[in-house]
Amino acid sequence: MQDRRKTRKVAIGDDRVGRKFIGGDAPILVQTMTAGYTYDIDACVAEIERYRQAGADVVRVAVPERKDTDALKEIIKQVKVPIVADVHFHFQRALEAVEAGVHKIRLNPGNISDRDQVNKVIDACKERKIPIRIGVNEGSIIERKDKQKRMEELGKYFAGHKSGHLLALMIAKLEEYVEIFQARDFHDVVISAKSMDPALVIDVYTEIANRFDYPLHLGVTHAGPKSTGAIRSVAALSTLIANGIGDTLRISYASDHVDEVKDGLEILYCLGKRERKGVELIACPTCGRIQVDLFTLVKEVEEKLATDIELPIKVAVMGCIVNGPGEAEGADVAVFAGDRRGIIYVQGQRVANVPEEEILERLLKECKEFEARVKRGEAKLGEKVVEILPPDPIGELGSGKEKIKAGLVEQITVRAT
Ligand code: SF4
Repeated sequence: MQDRRKTRKVAIGDDRVGRKFIGGDAPILVQTMTAGYTYDIDACVAEIERYRQAGADVVRVAVPERKDTDALKEIIKQVKVPIVADVHFHFQRALEAVEAGVHKIRLNPGNISDRDQVNKVIDACKERKIPIRIGVNEGSIIERKDKQKRMEELGKYFAGHKSGHLLALMIAKLEEYVEIFQARDFHDVVISAKSMDPALVIDVYTEIANRFDYPLHLGVTHAGPKSTGAIRSVAALSTLIANGIGDTLRISYASDHVDEVKDGLEILYCLGKRERKGVELIACPTCGRIQVDLFTLVKEVEEKLATDIELPIKVAVMGCIVNGPGEAEGADVAVFAGDRRGIIYVQGQRVANVPEEEILERLLKECKEFEARVKRGEAKLGEKVVEILPPDPIGELGSGKEKIKAGLVEQITVRAT
């Protein structure tokens, strides 16, 4: 992991929704965008609140029409999180959003042909100290008339890359745009350059990081449904963040945007960039040694703990004695299964041995009790009271005994503690 890149720091928010920062030493912020119509005020406010509760630091809304910016004023009064107005084509929407009290503008100067109009937006934002994200999307780069010549010319700088010309065009466009803002001495700028190709995203942001000191908004655009979008996003974003690049991010899914927020936060938790909120769940993938319906159990545990537990308790749900004790050792609360039963540990101490149908209820009870003890200062997260003593695999639980006898699985060796 490399140290975070030093960037300028941009403020977003106000006294009512709270002030946050993008870049500098501020934590990497997670954003999402509403999927409904902004002019539908009640629905928009409810959607924003859902994302805030999921952990979104900033929420963006589209303002394609005047009725959207008209609604914005009321929306901003009701929400508890900074709001970004996403503007395309109509510079008036940006001015109206600024007037409505929006906390940030997202603008692609390439979509506004008249430079004076862009300047008007910059001046309005400068006066109110509102930051602007300059976005370049792979899909929205405007080609010039001499496209072939330009691509050849620019491509030679990035020969070797499968999307070299595209990378060069994105960088060249951004340089053009940034100059517009710098010419008006406006520096509350955040930069993004998204693509649906994770490899291109890594390359283009790496280039940008070398050229500008503005904070960067990361994202893989049009990443598809969560099933494929998650992989694309993690591939690009975690690589960049591990290389110290990125100050805010948005995951884009063609599905419920709550998942964008949850997965964005999870990337940051996994890389140690944000302090985890809520349970960290460890679960085995199961194999031929499995002795309970672990997939169902894990799903139920995940759902219950997400609503019932606030603290970042580490919970392990393991299918058998082979890796169960090892994982249980690193967890605050753990269960590992054997012979249609579950042995439950809290801080390394065995507290229960229950039949399969009682595992969920007992595990949740132990998690809640442990959390309550932590809150009272009687226990600490990550602290072991005793070392785990794994049970005899072919003893009390009979874990694997029949299968071993029948030659279906190999002999289990349990590490002595
Ligand atoms: S814990 Fe047991 S059941 Fe789960 S994957 Fe490991 S060996 Fe298989």
